[in-house]
Amino acid sequence: MQRIYCGKINKDFLGKDVVVYGWVHSRRDHGGVIFIDLRDKEGIVQVVFQPENKEVFNKAEKLRNEYVVRVEGTVRLRPQGTENPKLYSGEVEILCKNLEVLNTSKVLPFEISEYKDVSEELRLRYRYLDLRRTEMLNRIKLRSQLANIIRNFFVSKGFIEVETPFLTKSTPEGARDFLVPSRLTPYTFYALPQSPQLFKQILMVAGIDKYFQIVRCFRDEDLRADRQPEFTQIDYELSFVDEEDVINITEELLVEIFKSALGIELPRPFKRISYDEAISKYGTDRPDLRYELEIVDITDLLRSTKFNVFRNVIDNGGEVNVIVVPKEYKLSRQQIDEYIEFSKTVGAKGLAWMKYVNGDFESNIVKFFDKKELEDIKNKLNLENGETLFVSADKHKKSCEILGLLRQKLAKDLNLINEKKFCFVWVVDFPLFEFSEEEQRIVSMHHPFTSPKENEIYLFEKENLTQNELLKIRSRAYDIVLNGIELGGGSIRIHNSELQRKILKILGLTDEEIDNRFGFLLEALSYGAPPHGGLALGFDRILALLTDSESIRDVIPFPKTQKGYCLLTSAPSSVDKKQLDELNLQFKIK
Ligand code: ASP
Repeated sequence: MQRIYCGKINKDFLGKDVVVYGWVHSRRDHGGVIFIDLRDKEGIVQVVFQPENKEVFNKAEKLRNEYVVRVEGTVRLRPQGTENPKLYSGEVEILCKNLEVLNTSKVLPFEISEYKDVSEELRLRYRYLDLRRTEMLNRIKLRSQLANIIRNFFVSKGFIEVETPFLTKSTPEGARDFLVPSRLTPYTFYALPQSPQLFKQILMVAGIDKYFQIVRCFRDEDLRADRQPEFTQIDYELSFVDEEDVINITEELLVEIFKSALGIELPRPFKRISYDEAISKYGTDRPDLRYELEIVDITDLLRSTKFNVFRNVIDNGGEVNVIVVPKEYKLSRQQIDEYIEFSKTVGAKGLAWMKYVNGDFESNIVKFFDKKELEDIKNKLNLENGETLFVSADKHKKSCEILGLLRQKLAKDLNLINEKKFCFVWVVDFPLFEFSEEEQRIVSMHHPFTSPKENEIYLFEKENLTQNELLKIRSRAYDIVLNGIELGGGSIRIHNSELQRKILKILGLTDEEIDNRFGFLLEALSYGAPPHGGLALGFDRILALLTDSESIRDVIPFPKTQKGYCLLTSAPSSVDKKQLDELNLQFKIK
């Protein structure tokens, strides 16, 4: 007899004897006849037990939810009026001839068939039950389908899939490494890769020309927002290419992914904006373009203002920027105060506001401006009656960032976001370096292997570039952003060994440190390294977007909690003394 998946049975099987295996999804007793919904990975089928078949019926009476059974029976039409149009198998049922209980189940910590809000903690602790739910199962299936689509895409374009090591040397991508102590070489460590960056570059030196991998990456970060210590990237690299080539192939891939997963035809080419424009208009290099609310710079109108607070900022090289809340959204004084409070929580020293009503401005700062200034502001912003503006005066980036965060909050609060829209944008022309306030030094904005713009490479001939000079240099990096979320990023790389050394030195490494940590790369680059570049996309993030999941945890089969715990296995956990001894490890108890 043929084994059929529950979810695949339909009228084509009428009159046939079939075998199905599955879990008891639910059981109903209807005046002497027992029905169960039997579930497997393909769906549900109804099984009927009639009292005439006494032995089977008695067994069916003992069935409980999530028992695992084997059912042998005949497919027949359901009686008229009892069909279930929601099920693929809804027109038919199986009349059970033989029932075998393969395993029982304890009472569940939460119901699969009538799943209601269950804490994530419980879901992760019993992930195998959570994954039995159709919603979760579908996400896992899509994950697999998408991985296939991506593989086929790259293979059809002549890319070679290459696995790179997990036990390796640390590659800086801006996070902390996970370390693995070596037993065979005492007192040394491997690092788990933050990305296959250096290996993919070395594959280019090896002549692989087009590489891809759907690969696990590890970053030991404090798990802010929606991050995981291990996550999956769609990683690729190509030789003899420039930015356009990488951008093109990425757009093609994303079009393919969206078409196959959602049936959506994404328009190409995607929008592009420079890093500077992104910061100036949206206060972030990950702008959400589903709504407008752009930041406007009004510094020039106020250069000689008598309002000292603004004047001081401007005289010190800062800016005055505004966001105009459209007139349809009349903000009350209380709401305005709440937004000002909000801006303080995200680091604003002060946020001013003004309201344009019946040709006049209202607010406690209006009295500091002269007529011309107010007229200029009105004209520049095309103000309409009833519009409120928020004003931030600070250093360029800070002022824009504050308004950028306010922009996001306003959009959410005022319902300006069309959830069905997909607004892709490339952010390009990034600075090569940025100043890290935290570390008080120059760091790479992307990573240290990113090439400066070609027409700026000559700058590195000069010794001792000043910090200001360095911060002005642009890179060949690009990020792809969707609805305010960074899907991925990449760059054209440095393929010249000397330039690579110079950049690492600028980042504060000594020659000795460079040789210890990156000697293998510099050496490889000096044996005929082709020009190359690539990108990596966040696979989990893309899946979360496609499935409307709140968190990437929902598309990762076995994710960790915000604190990095695996609630299913209780990892991380302590190990035996013997294991520590073998690794020559001893704890320094704080
Ligand atoms: N390795 C980079 C990252 O993981 C991506 C790239 O530059 O290709 O962010």
